[in-house]
Amino acid sequence: MRQSKIETALQALMEVMEGVAVEHRAGFGALTTYRVGGTCGVLVTCSTVAALERVLSTIAPSDVYVLGNGSNTLVADHGWDGIVLRLSGEFAGIEVSERSVRLGAAVHLPVAARTLAVKGLGGLEWAVGIPGTVGGAIKMNAGGHGSDTATWMESAEIFRYSKSGYHRQSASKDELELRYRGSNVGDMDIVASAVFCLNQRSPAELKSRISEIVAWRRDNQPGGQNAGSVFVNPNDDFAARLIDSIGMRGLRYRSAEVSKRHANFIQAAPGGSSDDVFELIWIVQQRVEKEVGIRLRTEIKLLGFDAERSRYLMGRQGNDSYTT
Ligand SMILES: Cc1cc2nc3c(=O)[nH]c(=O)nc-3n(C[C@H](O)[C@H](O)[C@H](O)COP(=O)(O)OP(=O)(O)OC[C@H]3O[C@@H](n4cnc5c(N)ncnc54)[C@H](O)[C@@H]3O)c2cc1C
Repeated sequence: MRQSKIETALQALMEVMEGVAVEHRAGFGALTTYRVGGTCGVLVTCSTVAALERVLSTIAPSDVYVLGNGSNTLVADHGWDGIVLRLSGEFAGIEVSERSVRLGAAVHLPVAARTLAVKGLGGLEWAVGIPGTVGGAIKMNAGGHGSDTATWMESAEIFRYSKSGYHRQSASKDELELRYRGSNVGDMDIVASAVFCLNQRSPAELKSRISEIVAWRRDNQPGGQNAGSVFVNPNDDFAARLIDSIGMRGLRYRSAEVSKRHANFIQAAPGGSSDDVFELIWIVQQRVEKEVGIRLRTEIKLLGFDAERSRYLMGRQGNDSYTT
């Protein structure tokens, strides 16, 4: 990619402002848990709120992809030629005031679960097995083990995107409309932090619950390179059961494989190809639709792949910035 005007402006900003780091053609796939896929146009990391505000006023209205820990993201082998924004530093803080906890958007969920358990604050134990960030968890309403983000979150500080630029907002949980694996956090919105209200419990009890969850994950889910469940469960059923029912557990497409351990996980291979993973997601979705009559929707954010098929897989209508 030729250096764009925005990239030149970002690089100039990096020279005069602390808390901004800019990298041209950075490895993007390597920043995801799939660990396959190519580069992005530019990677911008903001470590202070002031830096984020300046960066947002520099890049708007260009498309931006906010990257958390990349545990629900797949980028094509040839990469994605846009701006990827990451948060660090100030955004990785944990502040506790009795039962109220402010978590920065860049805090890793397992770190939050363990840190708060030691302090005797319960509610987020389920998050110990989810390798995402607080920002990603709010956008996706991540959950498991009978609980989810919406159950414990009260409000979030968010930079909302509109045609006139970004404005900062403190939004309640209801305003963000968290629902099963989704919310109204837009693709261009950026969550900066969120407040959770937790329960006071004994640290020993919380530690033991965390150990149970970690053991359950180890026994029931594959390790290696994946993004967790590929498809959202349809109403009253399980995507894994449907995939299994038509014999696709263990199915291979070149370097990608439907996990033998959990049929709703698709594994990439070390040194493998994200295009192979994408093709296998497509094959599985199409076969389930044809043979079972249910259209599965992927929860994984797909960047840089064929636009039409990506939209179909993500259940989106119209244009979306990710796939171009
Ligand atoms: C082994 C494994 C197990 C998993 N198990 C579960 C599970 O049990 N339950 C579950 O719900 N998920 C699970 N996941 C999926 C994933 O971890 C969650 O969806 C997680 O919340 C994604 O967080 P992330 O930071 O990695 O998001 P990313 O992949 O980085 O991004 C996902 C989406 O969130 C957006 N986003 C990220 N940060 C921000 C921000 N600060 N502001 C606004 N938008 C943002 C991105 O733009 C993108 O749209 C699993 C994944 C793996 C690899």
